[in-house]
Amino acid sequence: MIKFKKNTLKKRSITQRWITNNLAVVVLIMISIMLAFVYAIQTFYYASARQTLTSELTSIVNLLNRYAQDSETNLSSEMRSTFESFSAKDKMELMAVNSKGRVVLTSSGFSPSAGTIIPDYENLLNGGDGYWVGKAENQEKIMAVCADISSFSSEYHAVRVVCSLTEIDRAVGTVIIGATIVCSMILLMLVLTGIYFVGSIIKPIMQVSNMAGKFAKGDFSSRIRYQDSDEIGDLCKAINHMADELSTAEEMKNEFISSVSHELRTPLTAIKGWAETISYADNDPETVRKGMNVIVNETARLSQMVEELLDFSRMQSGHFTLQKATMDVLAELGDAVLIYMNKKVQDNIRIEYDEPEMLPFVYGDKNRIRQVFINIIDNAVKYSDAGGHVRIKAFEQDGNVCVSVSDDGCGIKASDLPKIKTKFYKPNHTRRGSGIGLAVADEIISEHGGSIDITSEEGVGTTVLITLPPESHET
Ligand code: ADP
Repeated sequence: MIKFKKNTLKKRSITQRWITNNLAVVVLIMISIMLAFVYAIQTFYYASARQTLTSELTSIVNLLNRYAQDSETNLSSEMRSTFESFSAKDKMELMAVNSKGRVVLTSSGFSPSAGTIIPDYENLLNGGDGYWVGKAENQEKIMAVCADISSFSSEYHAVRVVCSLTEIDRAVGTVIIGATIVCSMILLMLVLTGIYFVGSIIKPIMQVSNMAGKFAKGDFSSRIRYQDSDEIGDLCKAINHMADELSTAEEMKNEFISSVSHELRTPLTAIKGWAETISYADNDPETVRKGMNVIVNETARLSQMVEELLDFSRMQSGHFTLQKATMDVLAELGDAVLIYMNKKVQDNIRIEYDEPEMLPFVYGDKNRIRQVFINIIDNAVKYSDAGGHVRIKAFEQDGNVCVSVSDDGCGIKASDLPKIKTKFYKPNHTRRGSGIGLAVADEIISEHGGSIDITSEEGVGTTVLITLPPESHET
């Protein structure tokens, strides 16, 4: 229930953001463009109507002027006949205004009632251009243009042409409706594509969040299916990869816990068994000696393992520290080799140590370096069969201190080799070990600026090469 609520909230918020950031802006821009367009169209139509009225009025005024110049003609009667025969009667109306400001002659024959205000004439009298747009007495919208003819006519003061704007307004209205339809369609398309687009983002995000919820519960079985190779595709790929890694880590951790438990149980069983045997073998010093020997060895193995686990845990929490000082690698390697030399008879494994006279000093933690040597030699002995041969060699190469440990044991499969230094990785379950020794060793050597390189062939043997940089004079 809570999950559903959360998801709806997320979905709404992305959609809301899209509406405010995108759609609202587009709608505002479109409304502004439409208003500007409508204004431009109306201005254009009105300007052409005014142009037509003005040119019509100008030709009438010119004609009347000519009549006035001609002494043989009577201007009043000529005017009347001109008004009667006005050719554009159906589109506009011609009117003559007398000196009292009253319309006294019209091309249609109907005069407006007395007292009707003629704004274009008023405008002309006030020094304006005699142009007016407004509502007539019958509430019809009209346009009027007025011209002064008082210079050549004493009876009439001005002539005006008036036309109805109903047709023009209707045409402008049609354009507005057309533009509104086009804008609405564009908006509709925008909304549809936007919904599709927002949905295409929200859907995988919801999948990712569902998956993350499952991963948090420890279920790494599901994967996100997303085909497109865009940024969301990259995110889904990264999440799927993370799930792979987490599931591998989980498997390894489980395996690690079971192998560590097993590792702990074996020496404990031996210790318990021998302790019991000793308690009943007071008179058998040989049994006591043998038993004590096993107990000491197994206890040493146990404490070595616990140390390894503690180191590993310190490494994970970032509390792994080194006490560095100038050190002689040969001394530490000699100690490590000695431990295994003493065991060689018991394990029936031949250990050969090729020791050089001198090696450059190294700036490092001698205990940790010795621990690495012990671990690598221990592996070589552990993964060798009875009668095996382990060769340890220390030498200088390109100024670096190198130690190689080779064995002719079981070797490592080529497919396992790249992962062998990974924590918990333990391909060979038949041998004892926790799978963290090499991970710890690798970390220690890396902290010293060196490297561990492993070459191996399954069934032939393994060579581990430890390279450490010499102590530099700046350190
Ligand atoms: P473990 O405690 O299991 O030995 P390590 O980290 O020391 O853990 O080694 C990891 C794995 O690498 C081992 O489980 C083993 O399979 C392989 N390995 C390490 N050294 C050798 C070697 N000398 N010969 C064969 N396999 C080895």
